Amino acid sequence: MNLGDEAMSDEWMEREERYTCGVYRKQPAVIVRGEGARVWDAEGREYVDCATGHGVALLGHAHPRVVAAIREQAGRLITCSEALYNDRRAELEAELVALAPWAERVFLCNSGTEAVEAALKFARLVTRRPGVIAARNGFHGRTMGALSATWRPEYRRPFEPLVPGFIHVPYNRPDALEEAVGPDTAAVILEVVQGEGGVYPGDGAYLRRAQELCRERGALFIVDEIQTGLGRTGRMLACEHYGLEPDMVCLAKGLAGGVPMGAVLLGPRVGRLPPAVHGSTFGGNPLACAAALATLHAIREEGLPERAAEGGPFFLSRLRAIPSPLIREVRGLGLMVGVELRRKARPYLRALLRRGVLALTAGPIVLRFLPPLVISREDLEFVACQLEEALAETSVSEDEDDG
Ligand SMILES: *Cc1c(COP(=O)(O)O)cnc(C)c1O
Repeated sequence: MNLGDEAMSDEWMEREERYTCGVYRKQPAVIVRGEGARVWDAEGREYVDCATGHGVALLGHAHPRVVAAIREQAGRLITCSEALYNDRRAELEAELVALAPWAERVFLCNSGTEAVEAALKFARLVTRRPGVIAARNGFHGRTMGALSATWRPEYRRPFEPLVPGFIHVPYNRPDALEEAVGPDTAAVILEVVQGEGGVYPGDGAYLRRAQELCRERGALFIVDEIQTGLGRTGRMLACEHYGLEPDMVCLAKGLAGGVPMGAVLLGPRVGRLPPAVHGSTFGGNPLACAAALATLHAIREEGLPERAAEGGPFFLSRLRAIPSPLIREVRGLGLMVGVELRRKARPYLRALLRRGVLALTAGPIVLRFLPPLVISREDLEFVACQLEEALAETSVSEDEDDG
């Protein structure tokens, strides 16, 4: 290792620490470059990336098609608000609606929380009802509306009072929904696999019952596929696993290959919305649209949902074969994988970093792996081996939990 580079690396970290607002818990590595499933830090160390910017890099890093599309569009037209029409946006809207047979229209925005925010507003607008039912352990974002649907008390409490009308019911419990959905319910919002909340896969019968209850009782069914969407779970939309036809699906994260973008697919019960009820300056900007088109084409042409459908079970069974007493459960769907430990997860995140693997947590005791869908078997095997060794390390202690 080059000492000069190490000094440089420390300096970048110190500078961020000095000036960043502080709301992020960071891992001690300065990532400067990526290609495919690998990233490199400022000291030249290589990592297999199972963090992917929280599941953003579905295609891995520096995918040539996305890079070319961004370069080309940046030289042509970066901004054009929805007060006018645009060629790239027209193409993208058609392709997004074609993702689901039930989808008719789409709203474009710039992040996950904005997609959720829009879906919640549309639900209230269309039903003229105030209530929203979300699930315990659900995560939907951090703006005031989306945060009201998010479960974790640490995220919510400092910002109360939140938006009125939101309640949380236990996930995967149809009886709880049965009781909760009423004449004031505008929407039920659920993830197909709860991501941030701990990687809990939803039960098909439960999700179908949620949809049915919404139909019967005049509420809208919103599925948050911000993390599960676009091939991650082995299908283009995770809804396809269970034949769901929600009224709205929220997308973001990997949608534009790393360029910020969110979208809400809208079904017939939402319909065409009246002008001026919602909007976004950057929503549907040509740069993000061009990047999203390239991303969707690559996902389809490279068969990435199929790759996740094959790689996922391999990775799950490899992880389940780890004989560590520290593992309580391994669960997931496709390449969305959680390893629940009998201890705090963050020290193992550090141990993995030292061993050349970037991963995430999902709550205090779950390690989460969101590799690019292009990841090779060899890299998945490498990740599993490193986890096995990290769990066997006696030097990893709870003291190393950096908060
Ligand atoms: C990441 C995420 C969000 C929030 O997306 P942001 O782009 O961070 O606002 C919402 N819902 C789910 C399921 C997510 O995984």
